[in-house]
This record gives sequence, structure tokens and C-alpha cells, in this order.
Amino acid sequence: MKQLYSKDYIARQVSRLGSEISQDYQNEEILLVIVLKGAMVFATDLARQITCPLAMDFICVSSYGGQTTSTGKITFKKDLDTDIQGKHVIVVEDIIDTGLTLQVLTQHLQLRKPASLKICSLISKQKHRKTSTKVDYCGITMDDGFIIGYGLDYNELYRNLDAIYTFDPSQQLAQGDA
Ligand code: 5GP
Repeated sequence: MKQLYSKDYIARQVSRLGSEISQDYQNEEILLVIVLKGAMVFATDLARQITCPLAMDFICVSSYGGQTTSTGKITFKKDLDTDIQGKHVIVVEDIIDTGLTLQVLTQHLQLRKPASLKICSLISKQKHRKTSTKVDYCGITMDDGFIIGYGLDYNELYRNLDAIYTFDPSQQLAQGDA
């Protein structure tokens, strides 16, 4: 594992995003729709950097299913508890790669008629993007590569690391075999 983004660098990006959101919404009430499980660590830090009145709800979708590339197939595992009609919603994602997960999710949420719907993602990967869905608030842009830490997992592990690391599962297997 090689460190790609340090704890301090991530904290600075999260603080910037919190300021941008607070500036844009001022005293409007917003609802953070946190996409489980990857975005939970980011979202709890982000929420504390936002000064507007704020509520949180959680939705769970699965797209990778233990693999390191998107299958393009999305399964909804947990829906929201909140009625989002008429609310200012910000979807909080950990990372956007192809954009397929986000596209399906935003289409699904738009049907419920929120007052507005914006996207905030800690990381945006550019190389494999297949959709044009706009990321309104983006923490870090990177080109390609599989990463873990700060909420991001490989087979449910490593979410608790406080920095972000590049990760090559084939290397891990090779080391395990040695
Ligand atoms: P997309 O549909 O945009 O290709 O994939 C988005 C989802 O795939 C993210 O919410 C995240 O769960 C997962 N994902 C994409 N890239 C990575 C990565 O580099 N590391 C990890 N751990 N998950 C990723």
C-alpha cells in the first residue's frame, strides 16, 4: 500500500467543501443523502464543516460487489427514511468512477421531486467516466487506480484508515502466498 492522500490533505479538502456548501446554501436547510458505506467517514467530517441547518439520511447501493472495477449493475440495499420532496438534497458520495452508480441514484431521487439535488463527492476519477452527471462539489480529482482508506474498502476492510492509499489486490494475494 502506498499513501496517496494524507490525513491533513483530506481534512483541507473536506473543510473547503464545507465552506463552499455553507456559502451556497447560507440559512437554507439541507438534507445530506449519504451513500453507504463508503461515504460515511467523509460525510461525518463534512457535516461538521457545514454551518447551515442540516439533516442526514442514508441510502445503500452496491456496485462493485467485491471486485475492483464497476460492473455497471447497481443494487439498492437500503432506501431513505426521509421524504425528500421539496427539500434541498446533497448526495454525498465517496468516489465517482464510471459515474453509473451516481446516474442511477440521481434519476431515482429526482422522481421524488426534491427542491434541488446536488452532488458532493470526495474523489472524482476521470479515466473511465461514462456519464455526464455533474459533480457540484468535488474534493479531489484523480485519473485512475484503485484506492482504499477514509471509508473506502476492499472486501469491507481498510475503511478505518485515516489516509487514502493505492491498493493492488493482486500484490496482496502474491504476498499472502509467499
Ligand atoms: P461508479 O459507478 O462511478 O463506477 O462507481 C462508484 C462506486 O464504486 C463508489 O461509490 C465506490 O463504492 C466504488 N469505487 C469506485 N472506485 C473505487 C476505488 O478506487 N476504491 C474503492 N474502494 N471503491 C471504489
